[in-house]
Amino acid sequence: MDSKALYAKAKTLMPGGVNSPLRACRYVNAEPIFIDRAKGARMWDVEGREYIDYVLSWGPMILGHQDPAVSDAAHRAVDKGSSYGAPCLGEVELAEEISRLIPSMEMMRMVSSGTEATMSALRLARGYTGRSKFVKFIGNYHGHADSFLAAAGSAAATVPGTPGVPEDIVRHTLLAHYNDLEAVRAHFQASGQEIACVIVEPAAGNMGLILPAEGFLQGLRDLCDEHGALLIFDEVITGFRLARGGAQERFGITPDLTTLGKIIGGGFPVGCYGGRRGIMEHMAPVGGVFQAGTLSGNPVAMAAGLATLRRLGECDYAGLEARTRALAEELAAIMASKGQAVFLNTIASAFTLYFSQGPVTNMIESGKCDSAAYAAFWQQMLAQGVYLAPAGFECAFTSFAHTDEDFEKTLDAARKVLF
Ligand code: PMP
Repeated sequence: MDSKALYAKAKTLMPGGVNSPLRACRYVNAEPIFIDRAKGARMWDVEGREYIDYVLSWGPMILGHQDPAVSDAAHRAVDKGSSYGAPCLGEVELAEEISRLIPSMEMMRMVSSGTEATMSALRLARGYTGRSKFVKFIGNYHGHADSFLAAAGSAAATVPGTPGVPEDIVRHTLLAHYNDLEAVRAHFQASGQEIACVIVEPAAGNMGLILPAEGFLQGLRDLCDEHGALLIFDEVITGFRLARGGAQERFGITPDLTTLGKIIGGGFPVGCYGGRRGIMEHMAPVGGVFQAGTLSGNPVAMAAGLATLRRLGECDYAGLEARTRALAEELAAIMASKGQAVFLNTIASAFTLYFSQGPVTNMIESGKCDSAAYAAFWQQMLAQGVYLAPAGFECAFTSFAHTDEDFEKTLDAARKVLF
């Protein structure tokens, strides 16, 4: 069956034909392609067409698809049984490696998705502080737990309102614009004793890529300290992408709790939250805050994650950052030469090329970008074998498997785009 036929059938079986909304490609006025296989920086659809992949499963595949060490580790783990529901060596090894690379995570819990990680970290912050409110940034996405679906980014930004989420729940969610420290200060002034935590993407990746302004993260750290609230860095995207020690290493700010996902599972379903021992010991069975999971610490995911983190120790982060920046800057120059107003945000192996008249530093500016121009760009790049995120408000990711030839092909395709 080709993608068209599969999509027609899928639409009768799944809402929108997909298991996660953005995959439906509605924001680029297109229909999804169905993927058959992937290797390195390439993917092939069910009709055998080849694509250079800049989505990378939305971030996890930083080594590229089917990295031999990761595939081997996963295969070896499967051969020993795919799930035990009892402690295993892999969980201890992965936790030890994460704690070594991100020292603020003295203790942690493995879960099965980023959503579970952030949801559990919020519950822990509330249980630890005995407070209910928390601050979240407009356009940041922390998974789909009820409390976070107030002015969320990513696909949630495209859903008008949040039906199904009771008012009673989101009234505890205090909103501020990204990079607006004064708005956070005002929340603390108004209700400082009721705020359990501030949760932030230390570099935002769900309204396109937006970098923290100078002093923003330090300002959040100081406000949390002043008012006895916890600072949570949601590093589900930035962990092991901005640096091996994540955004907290890159920016030199230490949160109380960190959430991880994506890369630490090497392509398998994983999430993780952790922080200081004295906070984490409030979790059951030591403390009273409850969280559990049938597949938590799954041995196959642990093995793939550990192999990924070890392989990353041999990778040249600075080199990939320089090559990614050169690619993104050339893409921006090509679009500008075609008369498109563009603005580039980039860090490490991530970038967003906004079709925007001016700088993009928050959700308002991200929301003003020319989505029709992005859709035209996306469709023509896809037709030439370049797979970009099917929405203008997402990041492009590069991997250690992308070659200079991949980047050259991408630039050649961009040169041929017509508006
Ligand atoms: N936090 C951030 C910053 C994310 O980008 C995402 C997913 N893109 C999540 C949390 C939720 O992770 P998951 O999709 O694994 O539930």
